[in-house]
Amino acid sequence: MQADPYSGPGIQIHDLKFVPLITEEAVQARVKALGEALTGRFSQQNPLFISILSGAFVFASDLIRAFKGDCEIGFVKLSSYRGTASTGAIQTVMGLEKDLKDRHIIVVEDIVDTGRTLHYFLDQLEQHAPASICTVAFLRKPEAAQFSVPVDYVGFDIEDQFVVGYGLDYEGLGRNLPGIYQLPKTEDQPASI
Ligand code: 5GP
Repeated sequence: MQADPYSGPGIQIHDLKFVPLITEEAVQARVKALGEALTGRFSQQNPLFISILSGAFVFASDLIRAFKGDCEIGFVKLSSYRGTASTGAIQTVMGLEKDLKDRHIIVVEDIVDTGRTLHYFLDQLEQHAPASICTVAFLRKPEAAQFSVPVDYVGFDIEDQFVVGYGLDYEGLGRNLPGIYQLPKTEDQPASI
């Protein structure tokens, strides 16, 4: 990453240049609104937020603070993604230690791309007989959908381009960016930033 990625119009991460897509202000306003919507629905239910690691940890940490009421949080780690293209198989690398039976679960996902990850995880969750399952994705790429998965709350629908920031990385970097940056389509790739 360049020395001060926040100062210019775009950023360089490893070999790729990214352009701004969603500002920090827009991110924060949307997360606050999602927190309010979840508060309206779950504030009396002590919901269990489940954050899918690694990408969703930033979103989840802001989302639970925008939620007003008792709640708990747990983490699962699934793996499938390499570089900028999704691969097939999903694995649970780290599972949940909490008892999910009769709990109201709020699944927190960073981005729904093909929908494979969420589809896999919802299948697993249902086997634990929770009281209800609600899904929240910060980003969704409707054009990339291959699996039909219910997403109850979406931060932003975006086009089918690779993005970084707000928890999402490219080869390990970019998770700490407070806004979202997008890989431009080949014809839009800037000569320099
Ligand atoms: P899916 O299983 O829906 O195809 O992909 C879900 C996972 O792939 C996300 O949780 C995220 O880790 C990763 N992913 C999908 N699209 C992107 C993207 O544009 N940028 C980054 N950094 N990760 C992505």
